[in-house]
Amino acid sequence: MSLSEFGLIERFFAQQPLKNPHNRLGIGDDCALLEIPAGYQLAVTTDTMVENVHFFKDANPQQLGHKLLAVNLSDLASMGAQPFAVTLALTLPKVDETWLAGFSKGFLDLAHHYNVDLIGGDTTKGHLTLTVQALGLAPKGLAMQRSAAKVGDLIYLTGCLGDAGLGLKIEQGYQCANPEQALQQFHQPLPCVAQGLALRDIANACIDVSDGLAADLGHILEKSGVGATINSDALPLSKAVKTYLAETDDWRMPLTAGDDYQLCFTISPEKIADLTIECWQIGVIEATAGLRVLRSGHIETLEVQGFEHFS
Ligand code: ADP
Ligand code: MG
Repeated sequence: MSLSEFGLIERFFAQQPLKNPHNRLGIGDDCALLEIPAGYQLAVTTDTMVENVHFFKDANPQQLGHKLLAVNLSDLASMGAQPFAVTLALTLPKVDETWLAGFSKGFLDLAHHYNVDLIGGDTTKGHLTLTVQALGLAPKGLAMQRSAAKVGDLIYLTGCLGDAGLGLKIEQGYQCANPEQALQQFHQPLPCVAQGLALRDIANACIDVSDGLAADLGHILEKSGVGATINSDALPLSKAVKTYLAETDDWRMPLTAGDDYQLCFTISPEKIADLTIECWQIGVIEATAGLRVLRSGHIETLEVQGFEHFS
C-alpha cells in the first residue's frame, strides 16, 4: 500500500529536531510558531519550480531538492538575511518513495548545512510543482535592497559567471572536456549566504544572479535610477567557460545565462578596504541610465531580458 499524505510527511520531512532557537514549533500543528528577536526584521521569499519549466522531466530528485532550497536561500543571501526556517509545498503526481527519499535528502542535507529548519508545508496531488518559502533575519535597516546603488559605486561579483549556463548547454548535448564544475553549478549551486552576511554592513545594493547578470544588474539600475558600465574582460570565468568562449565566440553567454547564484553588489569606493570576502570588481555605477558593456576597448550593447514566464 502506498504511503498516506501524513505517513509521507512523517517519514520524509518531519523527523528533524528543530535546530534554531527562533523556531518554537515546527511540523505537526496547523501553523509553525517563530520568535522574531527584538531589533531584527523578518525577510521572506518564495520560489517555485515546475517540471518542464524549471527542470527536465526525470531530473535527479536529490539535485532537485538541493536546488529548490538553494535558490530560495540565495534570495535571502542577496538581502544579507540569515536564513533560519523554510516551508515546503509539494505537489506530486504520485507517491514515489524512491523519488521522495532522494528529494528529501537533497533538501534536508542543504538545510542542515545552513542550520535551517523545515517548519511546515503542504502536500497535494497534481503536476510536479515544488515551492519553498524561506525566512531569514536581518538587523533593522541593514537588509541590502536593489534600490540602494549610488553613482560612483563600484560593482562586484562574488564568483564566476557562466558555469551554470555551460552546464545547461552540456545537458543539451554540448561536448566539454571538463564538464564537472559546470554541471555541479547548474544542478547544485551553493547560495552565497556567508557573503551576504559579510556584505550587509558595507555594500549598498545587492542582488543574486538568477536570471543572468545583465538582467539582474538591470534590476538594480532601474530601482536605483542609475546606469552602469561593466567590463566584460574583467568577469571572473572558469577554465571551462573560457574554453567555451574561445570555441564559440558566444561572449554574451556569461552575461546573460542564469542560474549561477553569485551575488552582484555595489559598494562605495571608501568601503572597499572593509571587504572581507573574495570578490571581483567588474564595473562602476554611473548617472547615465542603461547598461554598457566594455569589451576589448569597445562599448557593446546588450539587448537582454531575463526569463519571463508570460511573454
Ligand atoms: P492542514 O490540513 O492543517 O493544513 P496538513 O495536513 O496540510 O495541515 O499538514 C500537517 C502538518 O504537516 C502541518 O504542520 C504542515 O505544515 C506539515 N506539512 C505538510 N506537508 C509538508 C511538507 N511537504 N513538508 C513539511 N511539512 C509539511
Ligand atoms: Mg494543508
